[in-house]
Amino acid sequence: MAHIAFFNFPAVGHVNPTLGVVEELVKRGHRVTCTSTEYFVPALEAVGATPIVYESPFGEFYRSPYNEEMMAGEGLRCLEEAIALHKQVSGYYGDDRPDVIVHDFMAWGARFYAAEHHIPVVRLFPSYGVSETFNIAEKFPWSAPDDPKILEMVERLVGLLPTFGLPADMGAFVTDVAKLGIVFLPREFHYEGDTFDERFVFAGPSIGDRSTFQGSWQPKSDRPVLLVSLGTAATGWPEFFSHALKAFSDSEWHVVMAVGDHIDPAELGELPANFEVSRHVPQLDVLQHARVFLTHAGMNSTMESLYHGVPMVAVPQMNEQRANALRVEELGLGRHLPREEADARTLRAAVDAVAADQSVAGNVANIKATMRAVDGPTVAADAVEKRLTVTD
Ligand code: UDP
Repeated sequence: MAHIAFFNFPAVGHVNPTLGVVEELVKRGHRVTCTSTEYFVPALEAVGATPIVYESPFGEFYRSPYNEEMMAGEGLRCLEEAIALHKQVSGYYGDDRPDVIVHDFMAWGARFYAAEHHIPVVRLFPSYGVSETFNIAEKFPWSAPDDPKILEMVERLVGLLPTFGLPADMGAFVTDVAKLGIVFLPREFHYEGDTFDERFVFAGPSIGDRSTFQGSWQPKSDRPVLLVSLGTAATGWPEFFSHALKAFSDSEWHVVMAVGDHIDPAELGELPANFEVSRHVPQLDVLQHARVFLTHAGMNSTMESLYHGVPMVAVPQMNEQRANALRVEELGLGRHLPREEADARTLRAAVDAVAADQSVAGNVANIKATMRAVDGPTVAADAVEKRLTVTD
């Protein structure tokens, strides 16, 4: 059996899709180690992995600004994270060399480590895949490509690459997927999905049971359930939650609202009887009962919603979320409501319209069936095992 080392990017939306694959590889008898901040240890242990804990400059996990000016600095923060990961993990394995490194596409520290030690790699894409011909950041830039902070990041990264034996070429660093990339989306949802060649495996969302570390949830009434969440990374938009309170307080909806870490639920004042508000919810449980998901359209939330057959009203904040929201609307799986247009009236109108839309219901049922026909953890684990048999 093999020693498989996962190198994660410390964000909930990046670690969650790996859990089902790790669990499957452990079940098959492999030893799986995972780099992790302290925060993710319970989740990783629950699926049988051995966490390798390091301290990230992001703290317990990544939370992003959603203002475009600040987003330009995110590349530099990712570089600091990569350097910290590489520094702390270097020397960790010693003679216990992993047979393969399976790494998040943003865990650049894994690339440094693997190149230095000549270990084969598999790249994971919790969101859109990146190839020589497709990069979502080109279609939906997270900031101006010539922003001085972006240029500084590129200059520093390109300067570092040769010290690990990698070519000093930013383009190749981003697009060179080598032998295998696993994308946690169905090809049908992916922009330009047909342009990805046989190096890419579309596993779809790799959803596992999270109840051991996240608890569980059951509906408390017979009312239709509306889930409201901005995910985990960019939740600092209190007006959004105030709009939702106003929009649905006199409605027939039972609203489950997860406000995240930036807001104290107590600050929202007295809650209407049809609202349940907390910082986090066991999202997969709520989606099993939800009629509509009012979401920021993070990729995991989007995939989990479709996997459970729940149409969305998508109010994105950042580049990739905007891409997802537009794709949701383009494929008739819900509606995109631009952030600037979100208020109590528009939220209520969009949610009620999506709930009543039979064409959306049909499209969502179809993509749910497509997604359920693929066992994500099995497909991804098969691909990793196959990679173990191919020499570089
Ligand atoms: N999540 C959760 N409970 C919450 C909020 C989020 O379980 O209250 C999970 C959600 O199921 C998803 C992840 O956190 O797996 C969020 O990832 P996504 O890509 O949607 O958004 P991000 O947090 O990265 O913006």
